Amino acid sequence: MYYTDKTIVYFDGNFLKAAEAGMDLYGQSLHYGYSVFEGIKSYSTDHGTKIFKAEEHYERLKRSAELMHIPFDYSVHQLTDLTYELLERNGFSDAYIRPLVTCSPNMSLSKGQKSYLSLLAWEWSNGYLADKMKIMTSPFQRPNPKAFKIEAKVGGHYVNSILACQDAKDKGYDEALLLDENGNVAESSGANIFYEKDGTLFTPAKGNILPGITRQTVFELCNHLNIPVKETFFKPEEMKGADAAFFCGTAAEIVALDSLDDIPFTKDWKDTASDKVQQAYQKLVRLRSL
Ligand code: PMP
Repeated sequence: MYYTDKTIVYFDGNFLKAAEAGMDLYGQSLHYGYSVFEGIKSYSTDHGTKIFKAEEHYERLKRSAELMHIPFDYSVHQLTDLTYELLERNGFSDAYIRPLVTCSPNMSLSKGQKSYLSLLAWEWSNGYLADKMKIMTSPFQRPNPKAFKIEAKVGGHYVNSILACQDAKDKGYDEALLLDENGNVAESSGANIFYEKDGTLFTPAKGNILPGITRQTVFELCNHLNIPVKETFFKPEEMKGADAAFFCGTAAEIVALDSLDDIPFTKDWKDTASDKVQQAYQKLVRLRSL
């Protein structure tokens, strides 16, 4: 359940009850997936509730709107302030925040005329203790960067994610690993991927992925922890049987992978550099010293 009759949301300039908010049936976003959104988390810290990398998320939201030709005038500062107010009004600390920008009624395929900002939030404690995931190489490719602006977080792109994720679940796996149009590893339905070999981390280079904010955080943590990390293009075969692997994303945080196509990652997680990154991430989001 994402909301109760008490939940407050922000919609188009006002705070109101989630149950009373509605969407125009003629909106362009509903019909064509022509919306942009973000996924952000806030954490309870010794210094109060803190939104992790709010600026980076809201910069990306503005960039996504720009790439989609959706008019969107809020500043990063305004968006951040509104989000803290939303959390406070709902009494949330550890929460997932979903900003969504939708477009006004327009059945044509021309650019958005006017947009509406929604800010939704629900309580979410961390997924740190999530079980290791069994993943499979998906028969679904990631959207082709020549067909979509894949660095934008656009509603319609996630139809591809739903197809791949459900297909993996139907086949008994936890998640899908999608390849790009060249057969290189890209990402999962909603997270980036790293694998570890002999103490070095490898991750797909930019071009066919959503370059995640968590992925960037992993680079920063590796730099701090002196863990070598390489961005490169590689086939799924190259990572099968590696020492370790993980997905990373705002929602997933850093989640260890058990196996790819039933071939296990071999090292005890506690002995890996990936484990150090996972622990450091948990400290960072809660503003504890690394
Ligand atoms: N790839 C995809 C397809 C995603 O949906 C997400 C989640 N936003 C990510 C990667 C990870 O991005 P981030 O770390 O910014 O949450």
